[in-house]
Amino acid sequence: MSQPATAYSRTYYDLLEALPQPDCFVCRLVDAAVRQYIDMFIYENITNLARREEIRLARGFCSAHMAMFMGGYGRLLSLAMLEQDVTNDVLRQIDRAMTNPLTGGMHLGTWLHSADKSIREAILPGRPCPLCDYEKSQERVMLGTLLQFIDDPAMAEAFEHASILCLPHYYTALGMHGIPGLTHRLEKLIAKEQQGLKQLKLDIDEYIRKRNTLYRDEEKAQEADAPTRAARVISGRIVHTDGRW
Ligand SMILES: [Zn+2]
Ligand SMILES: [Zn+2]
Repeated sequence: MSQPATAYSRTYYDLLEALPQPDCFVCRLVDAAVRQYIDMFIYENITNLARREEIRLARGFCSAHMAMFMGGYGRLLSLAMLEQDVTNDVLRQIDRAMTNPLTGGMHLGTWLHSADKSIREAILPGRPCPLCDYEKSQERVMLGTLLQFIDDPAMAEAFEHASILCLPHYYTALGMHGIPGLTHRLEKLIAKEQQGLKQLKLDIDEYIRKRNTLYRDEEKAQEADAPTRAARVISGRIVHTDGRW
């Protein structure tokens, strides 16, 4: 497992920059990290056979990561090569399942049932999406670095101005371990999150209240973008295929 930074690492400075920006800072940093990882893989002209083997076994990427992979210029040839790996393997395994001869005494219905089962096994991913794995390891590096440096003056100042974590990353943060003084560090995170969630709830209430026809003419304030902000808090980041945040 990836370890949090132990010195003023790149992640430390990335956090200082990302914390004051809108929305969950882990989502923002993870999104950039995954896009860089994809760029590097394509830059290597997908010659990394170990990576290709992972993708073939995983039956491609999950839907969100496939959207990210497709969201860049000049990627279709790389994409086609990965798709060739997956479809070749799926077809080879399905063919094997289909050509199993009827064994003596086996009813056609029984054979079909067993072929269905074999085909399902051929399609089933043999491992999780490799980009999900990478993303999870990056989340822990970022949250670990934040918790480790949460009392550092520059980090505390940036954290003061940060938006709250999305619920999936809040869940991950609360499951972190192996950091000295973790309980005290998490208390700071919990206090901020609780306050932020309460404010978000007020903004949603206010948005709904103003949508009521009686109040429609009232001027919009900070609740105007509450539904999209809340979507990112509840579901984590929203992946756009054109690469925008
Ligand atoms: Zn997040
Ligand atoms: Zn994924």
